[in-house]
Amino acid sequence: MAKDKRIRFPSGSYQAFYKGIRYKIDPENDIVEMTQKLNPRYSPESREEAVNLANKLGVKRIQKRARLFSKLLLLSVLIFLFLMFVSAHFSVRSESFLLSAGRFLTIVSEIIFLYMFGYYRAITNYCADSYCEKCGKHLVFEEFQAPLIKEESKIDTYTKTLTQYWHCKNCGHEDIKVEPQYIDHHQEKRQDDLKEDTCEECGKEHAMEEYRDIDVLNYVLKKKIRYFKCKNCGYHEIRLSKRFRIV
Ligand SMILES: [Zn+2]
Ligand SMILES: [Zn+2]
Repeated sequence: MAKDKRIRFPSGSYQAFYKGIRYKIDPENDIVEMTQKLNPRYSPESREEAVNLANKLGVKRIQKRARLFSKLLLLSVLIFLFLMFVSAHFSVRSESFLLSAGRFLTIVSEIIFLYMFGYYRAITNYCADSYCEKCGKHLVFEEFQAPLIKEESKIDTYTKTLTQYWHCKNCGHEDIKVEPQYIDHHQEKRQDDLKEDTCEECGKEHAMEEYRDIDVLNYVLKKKIRYFKCKNCGYHEIRLSKRFRIV
């Protein structure tokens, strides 16, 4: 059994960081917010590489190459299957050297074409993402802030959203997209009688209470978020626990 992680909010403090996540409580409206910054979609290195190549070849030619390598990849897979078919149906005791060599070559070319396809595909994706619909230019639309995952727990709802911040460095067009994300959530009843109800902040006995129902997030890990507060001094605490659910 894993030990619960406790996130403390001494009286008057409403924010705390734990493992890259910012926990924010709003006791007045009974809202708890958890936000986490994600990595940008493109690293500075991959962006620079894409821009250099796009300036050298042009966006059209990069798209053409991505298509070309996807076709070559498909072709080499088909040749490989054909050679397998031939050796399964027509070969005698010993396999011919040519067939083995042919199979070997098609496997090598599949790996090379797959790599080349992946490379040009990634750059094509960047070209598409960095296109500004407002001014019609390529390589100008970019993320100006790291994407943000936000989970918000209210009395009767629990939501998760992804916010992405993009703008055009050519015309200034800004696009901040908030997308709801699926989250598997249910609530469990809070515990009325706590075994340990002495407040660690002010030392008062029978002062701690679980003041909200438990949020349970059901991944493979069963993650529970529980909410406590001291009736005496206003100290708040969030407890996180994870249990592997063995079905
Ligand atoms: Zn623009
Ligand atoms: Zn207290």
